[in-house]
Amino acid sequence: MPASIDLQRLEARREMLVDLLRDLVAIRTVNPPGENYGKMCEYLLRAARGMGGEARIVEVPAARAAELYAHAPTDHPRLSVVGRYAASRGTRSEGAAVVPSQGTPRTEKQTPAGLHFNGHFDTVPAGRGWTRDPWTPTIEGGRLYGLAASDMKGGIASILGVLQTLADQKITLAADLTFSFTPDEETGGMAGAGFVAGERLVTADYGIITEPSQPHLVKIGHRGVLWVEIEAEGKTAHGSVPYKGINAFEKICAVAAGLKRLELETLGKKRTRHPVPEERQALPTIMVGGVVRGGLKTNVVPDACMVTVDRRLIPEESIAEAAGEIEGAVEDLRARDPDLKVTLTRTLAIEPSVVDAGHEITRATAAAHEQVYGQKPKIVVSSGFFDAHYFTRGLGIPTISYGPGQLGTAHAPDEYIVVDDLVKSTQVLAQVVADLLA
Ligand SMILES: [Zn+2]
Repeated sequence: MPASIDLQRLEARREMLVDLLRDLVAIRTVNPPGENYGKMCEYLLRAARGMGGEARIVEVPAARAAELYAHAPTDHPRLSVVGRYAASRGTRSEGAAVVPSQGTPRTEKQTPAGLHFNGHFDTVPAGRGWTRDPWTPTIEGGRLYGLAASDMKGGIASILGVLQTLADQKITLAADLTFSFTPDEETGGMAGAGFVAGERLVTADYGIITEPSQPHLVKIGHRGVLWVEIEAEGKTAHGSVPYKGINAFEKICAVAAGLKRLELETLGKKRTRHPVPEERQALPTIMVGGVVRGGLKTNVVPDACMVTVDRRLIPEESIAEAAGEIEGAVEDLRARDPDLKVTLTRTLAIEPSVVDAGHEITRATAAAHEQVYGQKPKIVVSSGFFDAHYFTRGLGIPTISYGPGQLGTAHAPDEYIVVDDLVKSTQVLAQVVADLLA
């Protein structure tokens, strides 16, 4: 018989949640370069332990970090906090590994693996346009303003709030609630969620990343992404006799036109069966020209030109398929133009990740949301990616996203979170834990 959360009693913890979030926002975890991760992890470790959780800090070994950051060497350590709120049954003694030592999957199976909560604590640098200090949280009109309030220190405060609720209300769990607080999501997550998943520091039957999803969304996954840089090589000549050169810009134009045809003719025929927030997101997209570089001078035929490609994949596609289509389109052009010399370099590749809308974790989250908010949430695949693929695809732990932040305010000037949502989403997440684990 699943337990029930006393929602009123959790509501009374509003001040604690706000204080937690204030503290988190005030720690400047700007990424890049990845500042203050140590300070943040110390804070989270203390907070989680103070709320009845077991936790420890894990660090990406320097050699591994150097590998991951070969393109942008960094002196800042890559740290995460991993832990659990232990099930009351089972034989693990106090002091036993919270999570297995690196690389060793847990073998104890006295209890089901349970539920995992993840949140990233890094944020982007503050952009222009702030009318407040991004690092000094302020409350006004029921909103807490501050950089990362929504994306996603609010979600981390909610996870801690759930731990506190379990302790406050003496909820006993039949399976572990595990959690990880990770860095670097804003730069791909390789040294954050990618590391804790890759090292198998996470064990669970399902997971929730508490990324912003208000108002009223449950994100069952995200589309995939493939970034490619296409570089054309030409030959310089004087601008008065351009026919003596090879114009790399014109070659890039031909490639761009070829990719547009690919979008219209091939991608337009694909359509996901999963729910999406906007009809157009049911189809894959390709965007060319986010960055264009090249040319020397007005009167010189450009001998080099580079353009970026941002290809988004629906859940049914794979990186191999998307990359093959782009290469195929370029191959067709090469066959018709012997002067076309282009090289393709992949700069980011993240597979799509999705959990079925009818999966137990999705249903439990949607039901708890309806119970707390009195309104059914919309269940969708997110257009932008987040760390779910590391868990869903990397570890086979079906992981969705649900949390208190406001969509659309993330990374924007005067980012804020609605304090009511912070409380309500914590209630929802606590109820999900009670439904699935208690
Ligand atoms: Zn985020």
